Amino acid sequence: MLLTGKNAIVTGGSRGIGRAIAISLAQQGATVAVVYAGNTAAAEETLQMIEEKGGHGILFQCNVADDVAVADMVKSVKEQLGSVDILVNNAGITRDGLLMRMKESDWQAVLDINLTGAFHCTKAVSKIMMKQRSGAIVNITSVVGLTGNAGQVNYAAAKAGILGFTKSVAKELASRGIRANAVAPGCIDTDMTAVLGDSVIEEMIKTIPMGRVAKPEEVAQVVVFLASDNASYITGQVLNVDGGMVM
Ligand code: NAP
Repeated sequence: MLLTGKNAIVTGGSRGIGRAIAISLAQQGATVAVVYAGNTAAAEETLQMIEEKGGHGILFQCNVADDVAVADMVKSVKEQLGSVDILVNNAGITRDGLLMRMKESDWQAVLDINLTGAFHCTKAVSKIMMKQRSGAIVNITSVVGLTGNAGQVNYAAAKAGILGFTKSVAKELASRGIRANAVAPGCIDTDMTAVLGDSVIEEMIKTIPMGRVAKPEEVAQVVVFLASDNASYITGQVLNVDGGMVM
């Protein structure tokens, strides 16, 4: 067990990659605060899966784009669990469309949740971690943040923003014993990619040397590593989990 006695916050923990991360952290002994936007049934299912595997967790409905709600959520996690040792900024959405046709609201919603959400959570948690003089932050970006992608100017900009954010946080907080790293998934089998349809996924698979999409658990294991003391000398890094899509 790599994370016995640790407390973690996972945003977007109700479904997909966040769910797999929450379950994997709990399997390593962490108590996990599963943060979700509105899908209470899915969040409860995640908690049930954690408990079935002998782990512990609590649920928080909280919009990461709302700074006041995030501050309240983090305060409440600290009160209930006693510390916050791990933060995984995973909550994310897509609102795809070509630049020329992209609505201001679709640009803003993606930036607000995918980038500003990570800022809100990291800011609130960093105060606690600085007092503890320890902590691990893992931000979920995307290979699209490295390469860009037609039809995703909002999403790619937010994910590229996460890279600069992660490296800056790593530099600011390293002296306080806090590490910050990013994981860049390629194509992972979740609700987010299910909406793309089979033909788009098939085209995408042609660009992946390993010739397949990944399971959310394959991302979760890398997050566990970065959150654990096994990664004690790693900060400010980006690890691609993409079957070789981007080298
Ligand atoms: P998903 O299946 O669509 O799940 C999204 C999660 O984010 C849900 O738990 C959702 O909560 C939560 N969420 C959305 N808006 C939120 C908000 N405002 N506040 C709090 N939580 C919010 O997505 P996924 O595929 O697992 O993606 C997870 C992360 O990986 C995202 O950052 C995504 O950009 C990134 N990523 C995914 C892929 C991929 O291929 N799937 C590739 C690269 C990067 P509810 O259940 O309550 O709606």
